[in-house]
Amino acid sequence: MTDHLDRLEAQSVYILREAYASFRSLCMLWSIGKDSTVMLWLARKAFYGHVPFPLVHIDTSYKIPEMIQYRDRLTAEWRLNMIVGQNREALAAKQTFPDGAIDRINCCRLLKTEALKNTLSGAWPRQRFNHDLGAYEPDPNPEPFTGVIAGVRADEEGSRSKERYFSPRTVRSQWNVGDQPPEFWNQFNTDFPPGTHVRIHPLLDWTELNVWEYIERERIPTVSLYYDQGEGQRYRSLGCGPCTLPVASDAQTVSEIIVELRSGRYANVAERSGRAQDKDDGGGLETLRREGYM
Ligand code: SF4
Repeated sequence: MTDHLDRLEAQSVYILREAYASFRSLCMLWSIGKDSTVMLWLARKAFYGHVPFPLVHIDTSYKIPEMIQYRDRLTAEWRLNMIVGQNREALAAKQTFPDGAIDRINCCRLLKTEALKNTLSGAWPRQRFNHDLGAYEPDPNPEPFTGVIAGVRADEEGSRSKERYFSPRTVRSQWNVGDQPPEFWNQFNTDFPPGTHVRIHPLLDWTELNVWEYIERERIPTVSLYYDQGEGQRYRSLGCGPCTLPVASDAQTVSEIIVELRSGRYANVAERSGRAQDKDDGGGLETLRREGYM
């Protein structure tokens, strides 16, 4: 008997396989958070344990340290083709919000959006994990990625509900929200003109609760920051340390998080309410996302 998680899994696996069959230069964004880690797990299922495209992580240098340790542990254990990009210039010049030089929106623009665009295009240096050395080294391959898989969920915040499974972007990763192709009855348009940049969203139909139910069912490893460590708080969404606040919660396990979500405790509290940059962008992140933000 199939249940709702089987149906979501089957659809996401189908989209991942379609993407792999349709785009020559494909990568998957991995933020280290629960959603993109579920997506990575689905990719391992879709391709029988071996993810056939690179994972890309944009490292702002302000991520909570445990997130980076977790990234590199799974990279080694799952033999991932891991690429890391960064806006080194802005960091070296201390042009960041934590340095007090600029506001949050412009800091996200520099450390995330610009870093992502230039990492995807190959214009800026990339670091690739060398499994023999167990360390990162410069990636000699500057080939641009034109198909980008991202763990966006429609229910997560306002602008994401306007996404498609296969969503074309301009060559500079910009998003024309008003001109998106229709997708009816699982008829995905994967036939884009050569050179079109496309974002692919296999998790669009998953909810926060579905993600946690699936993590429980599949026993997917997650960062401990999601769980209360005895202080009556936990992170519901992960990001940069200076801009991410925990929520009040005593959920210490995946099943306790599921009980908490089912109770409706957060029914009127946005999942990303602890992410300060959302508030600074009018609550919906649409300005940043139109420019190419994740
Ligand atoms: S979340 Fe905060 S520290 Fe991270 S890029 Fe945005 S403003 Fe800068």
